[in-house]
Amino acid sequence: MKHNPIPESLHIALGEDFTEIRESIRAICANFPGKYWRDLEEKSAYPTEFVNTLTQSGYLAALIPEEFGGSGMPLRAAAAILEEIHASGCNAGACHAQMYIMGTLLRHGSQAQKSLYLPKIASGELRLQAFGVTEPTTGTDTTKLKTRAVRSADHYIINGQKVWTSRALHSDLMLLLARTTPIEQVKKKSEGLSVFLIDIRDCLGKGMEIKPLKAMVNHNATEVFFSDVKIPSSSLIGEEGKGLKYILDGMNAERILVSAEAIGDARWFTKKSVDYANERIVFNRAIGQNQGIAFPVARAYAETQAADLILRRAAALFTANLPCGDDANMGKLLASEASWKAAEACLQTHGGFGFACEYDVERKWRETRLFQIAPISTNLVLSYIAEHILELPRSY
Ligand SMILES: Cc1cc2nc3c(=O)[nH]c(=O)nc-3n(C[C@H](O)[C@H](O)[C@H](O)COP(=O)(O)OP(=O)(O)OC[C@H]3O[C@@H](n4cnc5c(N)ncnc54)[C@H](O)[C@@H]3O)c2cc1C
Repeated sequence: MKHNPIPESLHIALGEDFTEIRESIRAICANFPGKYWRDLEEKSAYPTEFVNTLTQSGYLAALIPEEFGGSGMPLRAAAAILEEIHASGCNAGACHAQMYIMGTLLRHGSQAQKSLYLPKIASGELRLQAFGVTEPTTGTDTTKLKTRAVRSADHYIINGQKVWTSRALHSDLMLLLARTTPIEQVKKKSEGLSVFLIDIRDCLGKGMEIKPLKAMVNHNATEVFFSDVKIPSSSLIGEEGKGLKYILDGMNAERILVSAEAIGDARWFTKKSVDYANERIVFNRAIGQNQGIAFPVARAYAETQAADLILRRAAALFTANLPCGDDANMGKLLASEASWKAAEACLQTHGGFGFACEYDVERKWRETRLFQIAPISTNLVLSYIAEHILELPRSY
């Protein structure tokens, strides 16, 4: 078993709470109440006003270094922002990718690419919200993805298909993972994949087609089709063939941030449960007096606190540039399950009213279920723990 030990210097570093940022996020979110999100969902619409407000306030550029126009904050600050958005009843799914996708560009892009794109992403002039990895036929088996990018002189030609590409219709740029060397010609199947930063505006109508994909949650999901799409070779990020490594590099940040959203959801559900359990009188007493109501809420609360601690550790390790995969994965597992338990307890606490849309419980309940599937499903996290921490044989 090889769970990474925590360096002594970090033993008590539970992470700052960023109280002022949290207050400011709460103030912003107060202008986007449940009705705002319910109305959007009815129309499958994108929360443009919410995203614009967050962009203008600079919060979506939290992780972009100051030299490129962002505020260069640590990952823990970004986690606090996302947690607070979700704890306020809002949903950051419309814009969270902007926070972590740009990490690939930041760490592996050329100076020219960073100078060209990052300041515009920080100011909101350019939206980098789309991340095209998942494909319909290969699923989690990413190295088998079939989208091909073939180099020819000064450009690449892309052919293939992506699915579940969130926000592609509301983004100017897309980070795309495609195979540049056929799998039969590489030594390791993880080689030969490359990352491209594509300007969607230049490609739409020239072989690139984006179709909305209606889903259980309003995540602005799409299917993206590439048919002989020509992109300049300057779209390549880093070295050709090393793309999977670049994407995997960014996944720990993504896991920590998405888990912060789950923690925020759990806090929203818990508050909602406690308020309702205190005020709803049945059989002449508050329903919260029944342990059958109180205990599931209490259990979910304890599990949320535990997940939060692991995620604080993960964020501290990430910021200290130390391996954080173990904690990022375990934190993701625990946070997604804690938020689901809090959601279940909340729905049950509300009885029939849990099904009434105006309470927002059913919407948040559907939304928080996603964290057990995307960006990585629970089984794959368990496989990581079994293989990489417990050193059990690889299962796939
Ligand atoms: C709303 C939404 C938004 C999304 N946004 C994006 C996005 O913006 N960009 C993007 O690229 N993707 C996105 N995704 C895709 C998401 O990352 C995948 O759905 C997720 O990683 C699971 O992949 P899959 O659906 O192909 O499942 P599959 O890989 O087909 O797996 C199906 C089930 O089998 C299990 N399974 C598979 N292999 C194993 C194994 N070896 N051991 C045990 N269990 C296994 C999985 O855990 C899962 O439960 C989104 C998905 C949703 C639903």
